[in-house]
Amino acid sequence: MNHKHSDDPKFSQLLDSVRECRLCEASLPMGPRPVLQLDPRARILIAGQAPGLRVHETGIPFDDPSGDRLREWLGISRDVFYDAKQVAILPMGFCYPGTGKSGDLPPRPECAEAWRYQLLQQIPQVELTLVIGQYAQKWHLPNMKKNLTETVRAWKDYGDGVMPLPHPSPRNNIWLKKNPWFSESLLPELKKAAKHALKT
Ligand code: SF4
Repeated sequence: MNHKHSDDPKFSQLLDSVRECRLCEASLPMGPRPVLQLDPRARILIAGQAPGLRVHETGIPFDDPSGDRLREWLGISRDVFYDAKQVAILPMGFCYPGTGKSGDLPPRPECAEAWRYQLLQQIPQVELTLVIGQYAQKWHLPNMKKNLTETVRAWKDYGDGVMPLPHPSPRNNIWLKKNPWFSESLLPELKKAAKHALKT
């Protein structure tokens, strides 16, 4: 059993280093502001994309309509969601990458390279990982299908403890309508898996 705690000096040092990171500053239109939530006791990991502008401003991950939908998908309250001892939130890029012609730009690739492995090693008690969107899926899933829809549709292939998901953004409402199996089959299992992981 791992007895690491959030007051472990090595863990705190690592988290401080991330919070002070300026590695890809030159590519960030609003400058660095890493947004993540991490405690070694976390039981659910949310592997997302990158903060949007609103989250960059508030510093609170998923404090937006996407977050409301994600909490609804999981069947958990805001209190549980923002309890780092229960839920870790590690996007593929920790800082807002800016916006391009068709929405937010991809997460900065330097970020996962610099931080991801070492941070994931700090959360050994995670029982359920939500792999949200194509960037997280490319990194976290060894055998991703040909596109996001097919990957999510094949969720059972990834075994217990891993759930590929589309981004919960209201921009994906059309996707949700086109893929009713998602709400009918996957979401009830996701709620069960979250309950199990949190031991509630
Ligand atoms: S996106 Fe990641 S690598 Fe770039 S400055 Fe922010 S924390 Fe550092």
